[in-house]
Amino acid sequence: MKKTVALIAHDRKKEEMLTFVLKNKKVLSSCHIIATATTGKIIKENAELDVTTYLSGPLGGDQQIGAQIACEKVDAVIFLRDPLTAQPHEPDITALLRICDVHNIPVATNTATANLVLCCFTSDKE
Ligand code: PGA
Repeated sequence: MKKTVALIAHDRKKEEMLTFVLKNKKVLSSCHIIATATTGKIIKENAELDVTTYLSGPLGGDQQIGAQIACEKVDAVIFLRDPLTAQPHEPDITALLRICDVHNIPVATNTATANLVLCCFTSDKE
């Protein structure tokens, strides 16, 4: 069955997310990708992948993705947070990480971990 992967990147991490997605386009094209609005738009336009988008993070997108996680509809989260900039929606970010822990969903907050998560997806298929 298709894995569902949530992709979220803060503004200063969007370029890094796109580079990551392009490098991993093959495995990601076999997944159902969900994303917050701006992250998803960048991926759709530049990587030509199908993406189900939710609201922008600061407008509730993190919470919408959190709801999908709570409903056991997400297999992994790649959340490239900006650790150097305060975010207006900090409580939503904390809640998203918390709900991943509640449901034991792998959540990568940097590309080193994200690569390991996607590696598992590839070896699952073999
Ligand atoms: P965005 O939301 O993809 O719409 O920018 C991400 C965030 O900032 O949480």
